[in-house]
Amino acid sequence: GFKMGIVGLPNVGKSTLFNALTKTAAAQAANFPFCTIEPNVGDVAVPDERLDKLAAIAGSKQIIPTRMTFVDIAGLVKGASKGEGLGNQFLANIREVDAIAHVLRCFEDGDVTHVEGRVNPVEDADTIETELMLADLESIDKRLQNIVRKVRGGDKEAVQQQRLMEAAKAALESGQPARTVQVDAEDAKAWKMLQLLTTKPVLYVCNVSEEEAANGNAHSDAVAKMAAEQGNSHVIISARIEEEISQLDAEEAEMFLGEMGLEEAGLDRLIRAGYELLKLETYFTVGPKEARAWTIRKGTGAPQAAGVIHGDFERGFIRAETIAYNDYVTLNGEQGAKEAGKMRAEGKGYIVQDGDVMHFLFNT
Ligand code: GDP
Repeated sequence: GFKMGIVGLPNVGKSTLFNALTKTAAAQAANFPFCTIEPNVGDVAVPDERLDKLAAIAGSKQIIPTRMTFVDIAGLVKGASKGEGLGNQFLANIREVDAIAHVLRCFEDGDVTHVEGRVNPVEDADTIETELMLADLESIDKRLQNIVRKVRGGDKEAVQQQRLMEAAKAALESGQPARTVQVDAEDAKAWKMLQLLTTKPVLYVCNVSEEEAANGNAHSDAVAKMAAEQGNSHVIISARIEEEISQLDAEEAEMFLGEMGLEEAGLDRLIRAGYELLKLETYFTVGPKEARAWTIRKGTGAPQAAGVIHGDFERGFIRAETIAYNDYVTLNGEQGAKEAGKMRAEGKGYIVQDGDVMHFLFNT
């Protein structure tokens, strides 16, 4: 599955947010019991109303949402790249995630100590990014040294790696994260293999106070501006509110949201924003037993999408009976779609579309 790492300075609300994410009713949805893999790793259901609609039409006994993993990565402080705080362990945790949810303190509260003694989310973002850039520089320098002999020996891969590392190094030394480097398609794989921290996409999470959850404040405005300039995205959330909501059942939660002037839980927005950041999409399998959502990257071919369910589905792929979500709903299910000629037989070259209802046929 796909993993988002929650990072940020101490005392900005990371744990509060993580607890809310993993305790909420949605996280525990369907037949998945509460699923904390490790104390700091949680599997969260991706909210999707379409799945409920499909299940209602098909009379599915079970609803199984698709899931995303969140990792609470504590321990990032100024100097982490030099081994302060949890240092290297922390950086190793970040290497493993697909994207970063960077929590920024945008709430004023004299009772909660800020490590720098002031609330300034833009500077905080810079502090963390600087640590990540320093860590990248250090790992590049080490690897450049190790690769010299291979490069001299004419090893093609090593030459490519060296070229890419030099490009990353130049960006980092000019104060830019490695994600600003333009990478050609033929270098994409090798680039990803470098596993640089500052190539991970970032979603800024502005943690505001309860009263400001609906509209944000001057701090979150500043973050929004910064994010736009960087080409990153942001969401506004009150971790406190989310924590309270996570204790409520669905009906109570809706009432509470209404009272706060919020249309939906911030966590739902956060999960969806993460989904978009990672360029993910959902397709469905629907039957009387279960309605289930599956996650793929945008642009995934039908056999590879089938492979998410089981490797055998991909290896033995014959074709996929496919109904677009809207057709399935408008025509009241598979039978109706079939009669209206809206069930398509798609082959190996088909690119799965968001919302497709799929039935895979395969050889065993
Ligand atoms: P972490 O160190 O980033 O994991 O931060 P925590 O989640 O432990 O939060 C640090 C402190 O800030 C705790 O006492 C939280 O209750 C408090 N806190 C978190 N979010 C908010 C908020 O939106 N408003 C206020 N006033 N306090 C918050």
